[in-house]
Amino acid sequence: MPAESQLRLIFLAVTRKCPIRCEHCFEWDNLNQRETFTREQLVQIVDLYQRQGVNQIHFAGGEPLARLRDLIEVIVFARAKSDCYVVTSGFNLTWENALPLKIAGCKGVIVSIDHYLADRHDRFRHHAGIFDQAVAGVRASVEAGMVTAVSVCATREFIDGDHLIGDKVSETTSSAQIKVLININTTDASPG
Ligand code: SF4
Repeated sequence: MPAESQLRLIFLAVTRKCPIRCEHCFEWDNLNQRETFTREQLVQIVDLYQRQGVNQIHFAGGEPLARLRDLIEVIVFARAKSDCYVVTSGFNLTWENALPLKIAGCKGVIVSIDHYLADRHDRFRHHAGIFDQAVAGVRASVEAGMVTAVSVCATREFIDGDHLIGDKVSETTSSAQIKVLININTTDASPG
């Protein structure tokens, strides 16, 4: 098999846990049940794929930051052979958690922000306050020194009119920063 056709990137769901209830989620029926894999098994899976040449891993869920301790341990293992990214709703992405992720070897974080109006975002995600957590999480990730991207779930309703690059976002983050984040975001982060 030619090298260029080898598997290079995987999304690995590290947990079934998630406190959010997004309208677009295709994992509702599987969420908040017993975990499928132990931490040791997750490491084995990473090792298996790395032996096949995977050099980029996106850790997702569920909400990966709901299983932070195990996530960090798996990243510590994975970092030697793969670039590690975390796909998150912003839940638990505080400065206190972003820094250990960075130290563990996490290269970047992809945060879901679907609308620049907090109530629209929170309503879509059925979780009061998750917009504020996501914005704070973006800041924490940037300050921790990780590549930081924003993922947008572009519903038919949300793309009808001005969307993420709006005055509200400019007020809550840095407008220069948010434009850079959008430009580097190439990932479909759902679930996340
Ligand atoms: S899309 Fe992600 S954050 Fe939303 S409910 Fe599903 S697993 Fe949770």
